[in-house]
Order: sequence, then structure tokens, then C-alpha cells
Amino acid sequence: MAGVSRPHVEVIGGGFCGLAAAYELGRRGVRATVLERDAEVSGRAGSFAAGGARLEKFYHHWFTNDVHVMELIAELCRSAEVVLRPTRIGTYYAHDFFKLSTPLDLLRFLPLPFRTASGSGCWHCGRVG
Ligand SMILES: Cc1cc2nc3c(=O)[nH]c(=O)nc-3n(C[C@H](O)[C@H](O)[C@H](O)COP(=O)(O)OP(=O)(O)OC[C@H]3O[C@@H](n4cnc5c(N)ncnc54)[C@H](O)[C@@H]3O)c2cc1C
Repeated sequence: MAGVSRPHVEVIGGGFCGLAAAYELGRRGVRATVLERDAEVSGRAGSFAAGGARLEKFYHHWFTNDVHVMELIAELCRSAEVVLRPTRIGTYYAHDFFKLSTPLDLLRFLPLPFRTASGSGCWHCGRVG
């Protein structure tokens, strides 16, 4: 339409959220530019070069019931690159290893008092696999 300029959104930060926001804007016909201060996009969800390989900045996984991210991956035709494995999460704390995959593991996680561990809403326990 004459005289109506299309909006142009500048998204600050090229992490997971910034990239997703820019993608969503683009899908809706809105021009978006991502401004990232680092040399690479992806923020905390990224990886870095180490000894000829790439290491994640943090451990990362999704649960298959994280439906929004799974749908986004499918929409981007990347599903084949996602490795689906049974969840086996553990943590090393106070000189000991603790399994942390199931609600029962959580109750056995001694550093967390029983009442906190069993309180609803404190932890997200998703369907595995
Ligand atoms: C230990 C750990 C484990 C995690 N495990 C998981 C997991 O298993 N699964 C999962 O889904 N999530 C996990 N997360 C969470 C996930 O990593 C973050 O939620 C997600 O990466 C955050 O994305 P973001 O875009 O909000 O922020 P960020 O990733 O922090 O991105 C922000 C970006 O903005 C840039 N920026 C900041 N300020 C400016 C500026 N002024 N100008 C330009 N650029 C700027 C930064 O450089 C960065 O690239 C984990 C996080 C941690 C810390």
C-alpha cells in the first residue's frame, strides 16, 4: 500500500530467543535484523572449538514433549539431525554422583531436602524419549 512503510524490527541478541523471534517475524512478513555482539550467533545454546571438535557451552537436551521446540525443529526440516535417546541425566555434587532422570532420582538427591524435591512446580519432569 502506498505511503505505508513495512515495519523493520531489530532484534538485539542472536541467542536461541533472538533467532526464534526473528524467524517468527520473518514468517509473518516482517523484516527483522538480528544484532549480535559476539562473533557467532547462538548465545548460551552454542558451541566452541576445542581440540578439533565442537563442545557445547553447556549440556543441552530437549525432551520430546517440549512440543514447541520440536515443532520448530520440524518446521526447519532439522528433525533428522536430532538424536533421540533415553534420558540418563546425572550430576556430580559434593564429591558424589547422583542420577537425576526420574522423579524417584530427584527424591534420592540428598542435597535437596525432601519437601523441596517433592514440591510441585519446582522441577519439570518430562516424558522420556
Ligand atoms: C547450564 C545450562 C544448561 C542448559 N540446558 C538446557 C537444555 O538442556 N535445554 C534447553 O532447551 N535449554 C537449556 N539451557 C537454557 C538455554 O541455554 C537458554 O535458555 C537459551 O540458550 C537462552 O537463549 P537466549 O536467546 O534467551 O539467551 P542467550 O543464549 O544468552 O543469548 C543472548 C545473546 O544476546 C547477545 N547479546 C547480549 N547483549 C547484547 C547486546 N547488547 N548487543 C548485542 N548482542 C547482545 C549475547 O551475546 C547472546 O548471543 C541451559 C542453560 C544453562 C546455563
